[in-house]
Amino acid sequence: MTGTGWRETARRRLVGEEFDLLVVGGGATGAAIARDAATRGLRIALCERGDFASQTSSQSSKLIHGGLRYLQHGDLRLVFEALAERRRLLETAPHLCRPREFLYPAYAGRFPSLGMLSLGVGLYDALSLWHSPGRSRRLDSHEVHRLVPWLRSAGLQGAQRYFDGWTDDARLVLENLLDAAVAGAVVISGVEVQPDDRRSGSLRVVRAVDRDDGERFEIRARLLVNATGPFCDSFSGGPRRLRPTLGVHLVVDGDRVPTLGRAVVVHSPRDGRLLFVLPAGRRTIVGTTETDWPGPGDPARSPRPDDQIRARRNDVEYLLQTVNHAFPPAELQPSDVIATFAGLRPLLDSGLASQGSASREHAIWADARGWLHVAGGKLTTMRSMGEEVVDRAIAILHDRGLEGILRPCQTRTRPLPGAGKANLGSLELAPGIAAHLGETYGARANQVAALIAADASLGRRLDPELPYVAAELIFAIRFDLACEVEDILRRRVPLALFSKTQGLDVADETATLLARERGWSAERRAQSLLAYRAAVSTSRLWQTD
Ligand SMILES: Cc1cc2nc3c(=O)[nH]c(=O)nc-3n(C[C@H](O)[C@H](O)[C@H](O)COP(=O)(O)OP(=O)(O)OC[C@H]3O[C@@H](n4cnc5c(N)ncnc54)[C@H](O)[C@@H]3O)c2cc1C
Repeated sequence: MTGTGWRETARRRLVGEEFDLLVVGGGATGAAIARDAATRGLRIALCERGDFASQTSSQSSKLIHGGLRYLQHGDLRLVFEALAERRRLLETAPHLCRPREFLYPAYAGRFPSLGMLSLGVGLYDALSLWHSPGRSRRLDSHEVHRLVPWLRSAGLQGAQRYFDGWTDDARLVLENLLDAAVAGAVVISGVEVQPDDRRSGSLRVVRAVDRDDGERFEIRARLLVNATGPFCDSFSGGPRRLRPTLGVHLVVDGDRVPTLGRAVVVHSPRDGRLLFVLPAGRRTIVGTTETDWPGPGDPARSPRPDDQIRARRNDVEYLLQTVNHAFPPAELQPSDVIATFAGLRPLLDSGLASQGSASREHAIWADARGWLHVAGGKLTTMRSMGEEVVDRAIAILHDRGLEGILRPCQTRTRPLPGAGKANLGSLELAPGIAAHLGETYGARANQVAALIAADASLGRRLDPELPYVAAELIFAIRFDLACEVEDILRRRVPLALFSKTQGLDVADETATLLARERGWSAERRAQSLLAYRAAVSTSRLWQTD
């Protein structure tokens, strides 16, 4: 699954082979199913219409957590399960999921009080069976002030410290897919599956279109799994099961909201909702909003992947107001926003009245045609959802005549491909670059280093403020399944999120590399470049709303 020919190989196999499972959707859910199924020995294919993780799974808050606030709703089982998955992820992907310290400040007369926070965190740590990635503790207001000097001090009573996990969501999905491929899965991006099928003996046949060259073809599988996340209803065409909500984050310069490497929990002064201020290298991420989608104008319509899912001016103002209230010296203005990102939560419709309280649990169901559908859940619980779907799928496949012995579930303990230490040896790298490569790619950083060892100019920074280097662009094309400029600059080397130029100044170079590695025509190169520029413009449309 490496080298520039991976996609052609995957396309050939997709058309030529018969599969036990065909998974539609290459976000966290689909990727986890593919990995769990392939490592048990099932023949599996996964098709993603855009880039892997191009929808919700790259737009999350990137927390690997049980969800402290779900304790408030009494969702103890949900929190317990998610905390068990947090532990597994920290163990099987230590390069990608790292412990992160959180401070949750308490203010006089405000919910939650310091006492409640301490109780809540105590319960949270107990539900993790005391496997918290760090030591929780109560801090007095002086300590809090020392650690986060810009935090609002009026009424500050102290803070509760606790630990959760933090990841790169798109990369977590990618490594699941790479592992699935190592175990024999066919995974492909840019292939859209049509939502109808026909029978052919014991197989189902679906039509698909390759969005790269427009070719139409058929795929044969015993069982189809709809893992299209927030697009589950529009894809299935069945009764409405989801009530997606829009979540927006914004990215600002870390110096403008200094938290000295800690994540801080804050509340909106407008509606009291809980948000996070999350350090991300030289930047700070603030989020998230939660509003109904597509809004009161058209409540019955289910989202479709072509919808413009982006931040609106209201969202940005809400987030700025929240952060300015929590950190008064910040005085952030709209012009301070470096980038925004937005995604739809695939929430199950629990019939609850207000957004922000809909269920985070997932559901798996079979329809009259014999398809399996899965929706809901969280990034944190992707693996356990994948395991559950595969258990269900195997039971169905046995009824449909599947023979042979499968391995038991492997994913509980199987390391992800980058798990392990990078050995960058004697390579001379600018300060911060080696750490960045190790933290991003884990043991796979050795392959990035090999590119730099062969051509020292590839060790050059792509942005003076950020640790990304030119070799990563090539690595993304050869080893990280990137096909378009946007795949690289938004999800593999995310300058679109963290660079003040949003990567527009390296887009041309990136397109040239892609053209060289993939043998593109000048027209194809221009098309990919244009698409990237359009995507950046769309993400900035909130400025003119
Ligand atoms: C703002 C926000 C913050 C969040 N924060 C966190 C967090 O901090 N921690 C956490 O654990 N969870 C978090 N979540 C939840 C988590 O991100 C989601 O539960 C998860 O990413 C959903 O993954 P998915 O695969 O189901 O959906 P998606 O990632 O949307 O994947 C579905 C895929 O299906 C593809 N698709 C659709 N139709 C077709 C077709 N016809 N053919 C082929 N492919 C198709 C789409 O292109 C898409 O890529 C957050 C969510 C949001 C929105």
